[in-house]
Amino acid sequence: METDYSLLAPGPVNLHPEVLKILGLPMIHHRTPFFEEILRRSLLNLQRVFQTQEQAFILPSTGSGGMESLLVNPLSPGDEVLAIVSGKFGERWSKMAQTFGLRVTEINLEWGKKLDLALVEKELQKNSKFKAVLCQACETSTGIAHPIQDLGGLISNYPDTLFLVDAITALGAYPIPMDMWKIDGMVGGSQKAFMLPTGLSFVSFSKKAWKKIEASTMPRFYFDIRREKKANLTGETFFSSPVSLIRALDWVLQDLLARGLDHHFKIIEKRSLFTKHFVHALGLQQFSETPSTSLTALVLPPNVDGQKLRAHLEQTHLITLMGGQDQLKGKILRIGHMGFIPMEEMVTFFLKLQKAFREFNVSYSGVQEDEMRAWLQK
Ligand SMILES: *Cc1c(COP(=O)(O)O)cnc(C)c1O
Repeated sequence: METDYSLLAPGPVNLHPEVLKILGLPMIHHRTPFFEEILRRSLLNLQRVFQTQEQAFILPSTGSGGMESLLVNPLSPGDEVLAIVSGKFGERWSKMAQTFGLRVTEINLEWGKKLDLALVEKELQKNSKFKAVLCQACETSTGIAHPIQDLGGLISNYPDTLFLVDAITALGAYPIPMDMWKIDGMVGGSQKAFMLPTGLSFVSFSKKAWKKIEASTMPRFYFDIRREKKANLTGETFFSSPVSLIRALDWVLQDLLARGLDHHFKIIEKRSLFTKHFVHALGLQQFSETPSTSLTALVLPPNVDGQKLRAHLEQTHLITLMGGQDQLKGKILRIGHMGFIPMEEMVTFFLKLQKAFREFNVSYSGVQEDEMRAWLQK
């Protein structure tokens, strides 16, 4: 099972072989000079991945914990926020905001449709009291990438409004320079582009956000970023550090930066281009109008039960993809491009996908193995 199994979900992802080795190292205590050095280096390198002058933080939580941190630190109960909702993760963030007593106005986009900036501008002009705008950089439930740079430019014209971005399937996957794009709070996650297991989230806040963090009246404890900042000054984390995960992160960040961020982005982009090319060659369509490079969502022919096909791919061909949720249940397949995926695995994947299509009587145009190899040689 283990050697043939192909994890092609948009998180969690296939681990880098070096990460696997590091995860097996003996435990060290987190309050030791050895770990202090690892933590300090990781925090500095993480800051370079965020492309920010501000401090970056490592939180011992899944991505959603980082999303919570982005809300509870700079905002206060009763604050009005504008949430761009274009799928499951947008829905989650809006619900989370309401849970913390924020007054949420939603911009509900049709799933997979391009975001019209004018919609956001209209809301901001109508109500200048918004303390934050929330948006996914990539809405993983549909595979869409939103125009974060343009949104950042727009929102920066409003001195009292923060731009908070869920970049969990963007940070480390494609360019999203926090400072340059005027993002005030951004979150990433370990089990996506960082080739690590689930369990760490990464956050950073702009100067504009820090002013609000000092003034916020929101109750917070576990995700109180002020305490985390203070602990980091002495080479520690606020709570016990997930040592194994941070040790593996340290290696990933060093490797990634040594090769260059752009190089890492290009590898992911190549898997994405390959997938998108051969999805079309099979005669299928992508779901989203402005697709992300971190995953591809393909539309299945209407007569195919996507849930059964997905389960079959997993059980018979040992490939895990993700299907659609809610309104998209059974209608799309989502293929992740993050994690450790040699191109060879992509070729095998397309061959097995076609086999599964035949087994399910899906009509498609066949793609030969040598066509794929020729594409890779280009
Ligand atoms: C994976 C993901 C999350 C976080 O999910 P967790 O299960 O909490 O790690 C949040 N937002 C997006 C866009 C994601 O892709």
